[in-house]
Parts: sequence; structure tokens; C-alpha cells
Amino acid sequence: MTSSSTPELISVIVVGAGFAGLTAAIECKRKGCSVVVLESFKELKPLGDIISFGGNAGHIFQRWSGVEEQLDPICHSSDRIAFYDYHGDHIYTQVWADGVEYGKKFNGHRGEIHEIVYNHALSIGVEIKLNRKVTEYFETDTEAGVITNGEKITADVVLAADGVRSTARKIVLGYEDKPKSSGYAIYRAWMPSDDLAKNPLTAHLVNDGDKHVGYLGPDIHFLAASIKNGKDFSWVLTHKDKADVEESWSAPGDIEDAVGVVDCWAPIVHAIIRATPQDKLVDWKLVYRDPLPTWISPKARIALLGDAAHPFLPTSIQGASQAMEDGVTLAVCLELAGKVNVPEAVRAYEKIRYDRVRAAQKTGETTRDKWHKTDFDRVRANPASIKLPREKWLLDHDAEAHAYAMYADTAASLRPDAEARP
Ligand SMILES: Cc1cc2nc3c(=O)[nH]c(=O)nc-3n(C[C@H](O)[C@H](O)[C@H](O)COP(=O)(O)OP(=O)(O)OC[C@H]3O[C@@H](n4cnc5c(N)ncnc54)[C@H](O)[C@@H]3O)c2cc1C
Repeated sequence: MTSSSTPELISVIVVGAGFAGLTAAIECKRKGCSVVVLESFKELKPLGDIISFGGNAGHIFQRWSGVEEQLDPICHSSDRIAFYDYHGDHIYTQVWADGVEYGKKFNGHRGEIHEIVYNHALSIGVEIKLNRKVTEYFETDTEAGVITNGEKITADVVLAADGVRSTARKIVLGYEDKPKSSGYAIYRAWMPSDDLAKNPLTAHLVNDGDKHVGYLGPDIHFLAASIKNGKDFSWVLTHKDKADVEESWSAPGDIEDAVGVVDCWAPIVHAIIRATPQDKLVDWKLVYRDPLPTWISPKARIALLGDAAHPFLPTSIQGASQAMEDGVTLAVCLELAGKVNVPEAVRAYEKIRYDRVRAAQKTGETTRDKWHKTDFDRVRANPASIKLPREKWLLDHDAEAHAYAMYADTAASLRPDAEARP
């Protein structure tokens, strides 16, 4: 139901070229809007390490011509994850048969996946302006706009996908809302797997295809995966942390500090950490925000999306997928509302998305608590209880079809006379 025949083009400014912003831009372009993306980074760089997209995001990638074919060779390929306790004893192997049924997942290097999506946006004619930091947002009844590099730019709507440190939140909330520490930090690394292949303790993780393992202990979990048929390797170690997110958010990590966090753990975990080149280790402070009461500005011409609206704990494995769902939903709402009803589209977007996002966020908290507070006697009695939730409502979801199905009733319910109607 895409169309390029919208009589009067809706003009859209997207702030931020992360997965939320790029998805919104691609989908708005597919649905006939004129789109410009303003991004503060000066050049495209392959930043980050492992990122995961669930089946609900898989549907979105698969609609973009040529993207799935480019993602396949760079994404993790295995159908299972093996869980161990921190002594190294096997607990349970979870097989992803449900992943097939619920759509295709894509897990790989954030920078590499981002580059593919970025280039796809350019290939369909999305205009992306780099080195454009947005410093101010404004809106009237008839338009919205931003100030960037001293220039004022206006459009029918501004989609603010400016990440977990969003400055757009101020106009939406009416006050400054600072990110806070989640109480956890993550040591994370992405590296070539050559050294792991030479060590008998770790060789099985990188030989004979991709592998995925998880080690669980008190208030700590360690996940590791090989990618590209074992050529690359990535691991994350989530642990308690007291650092102030304002002072240091993401910094180079220290190998011995990371080993110290898991000092009495299985030797294989130490071997993986010690095989990590010092310059490949990052200490990433896990920033969190309380759920916002709203994601849209008072005149409903500016919408927050992605991490700007709702940061996720990594244990949800949904942050990037939900960011993409936001972009898809907004584009459908704008297409169906048309240029004269942009505020209605923005309000409908929030209503369609809000409860689903909150429910998805909660899965991150429950999985983290399940893993960090594991009662191993209970788990041995019921090993499957350690599984990652693979829930149909979350993964088997087509955000585009859902928005098309929901829009008319949602928009009607938001009109001032909705209460009065029988
Ligand atoms: C550099 C980087 C590396 C990351 N690495 C990982 C990773 O390895 N694994 C993982 O799971 N998640 C990672 N993330 C987070 C992950 O991408 C997001 O949690 C998720 O994809 C939601 O995306 P988003 O588009 O909402 O936010 P983000 O991905 O954070 O994108 C926000 C974008 O907005 C831009 N921006 C911010 N402020 C302004 C402004 N004022 N004007 C213009 N542009 C602005 C930022 O430069 C950024 O490109 C990373 C994010 C970034 C920015």
C-alpha cells in the first residue's frame, strides 16, 4: 500500500541518522514524502559492535530492495544459544525454531549494518546532510522546524531520532530531562577470532560455523558470539556499576578490570576476555530513562522516536527493532493522514506505539533479573526456565500492516468529538 502519488508532498525533517532516523526517512520516502535527514556526525564510520534485530525488524529490512542480500553474509548465523553457569557447567541449549516462524532476525556489527541501511537510504533518494547538529526545535500550528549550524529549516513535521541523549526531549516535555545510570555497565568487544582459534579452550567457538553462548552468574551475564562463519567474534559482559553517566559514558575498557569482574568464573570466560586486543574493549555505561509521559510536542508537529523516546536495556534485545518500528509507523500515519492532518498522524503514531513499546521495554528488565538473580537449584530442576523469551506478540509483528490496520480507528478516537459519538 505504498504510493508515490500523494497529491501534496508532506515535508519531513528527520534529526539523527541512526536506525530510527534512517528507517523513518526510508519509509517516509517510500510513501511519497519529501525527506531531509540532519545528522551531527561528520562522516559515516563503522561505529559500535554487536547489535541485534528481531523478526519484527526483519520484516522491515526484507521490504528494502537488496538489503537482506547484503545483510546475510555479515550477520551471525546459528539457530541456538548454549547457556552455562559461571563455573562453566552447561545448563540449557535454546534452539531458535520459533525464530523462523516469527520472522528473520539479523545480528551483526552495528557499523556494518548501519552502512548498508545508510546506503540504501541514499539509493532511494533520501537526502542526508552530515555535520548538521540540531541545536533548537520549534513549532507553530502549521509547521515545525529546527536550527542547525545557524540555519533555520522548516517542514510539515520534525521527526527527532537523536538518540538516548536527545535534546528534542526538551520541547516535547517542556523541561530538561537528563539520562540516568541504569546501575549497570557493559564491557563489550568486537575482534578478529584468530587468537581464539589457536586456544584449545575457545577454538570450538570459532571453528565449524557461528556459535552463541551465555554464562550467567550473580548480577552479571556474559554473552559471546562468533560471526561471519567464525571469522569475527563479539562479547558483552553486563555487570553492576556505580559510575556517573554524566562523567563517563563510554570509555576504553581495561582487560584486567574486565577479568576482575568475573574473577572466579570459568577459565573459558577469562580466555575470551584475555584474547581481546586492548584497543577493541569498550566500557559502556548503560544509560536509562524513565518512561516519558509523551513522545510528541504540544502542537503535535514534532515526534520523538527510537532511543530519544524510549531507551531499552540490552536484555530486551529490542531497542533497535522498536526504533525501526517507530519509523515505519510514523510513515504510515503521515501517508494516511495527508498533509492537512499532520498533527493527527503524529498523535496516532504515539497512541499506536506507546503500550507496545512499554511492554517490550519491560521484557529487558525481566530477562536481566532472571539471569542476574538465578537460583541455580531451581534452574537445574527446570533448565528451560533460563531461556530468552521469544514471544509471538513481540517478534511476529509487522509494524506496517499493524499501522495500516489501526490508523483509522486510532485517529477517530483522538478527534475532539470522539467521546460524544455513540
Ligand atoms: C555511535 C553509536 C554506536 C552504537 N553502538 C551500538 C552497539 O554496538 N550495539 C547496540 O546494541 N547499540 C549500539 N548503539 C545504540 C543503538 O544504535 C540504538 O540503541 C538503537 O539502534 C536505536 O537507534 P536510534 O536511531 O534511536 O539512536 P542512535 O543509534 O543513538 O542514533 C541517534 C543519531 O542521532 C544523532 N544525533 C544526536 N544528536 C543530534 C543532534 N543534535 N543533531 C543531529 N544529529 C544528532 C547521533 O549522532 C546518532 O547518529 C550505538 C549508537 C551509536 C550512536
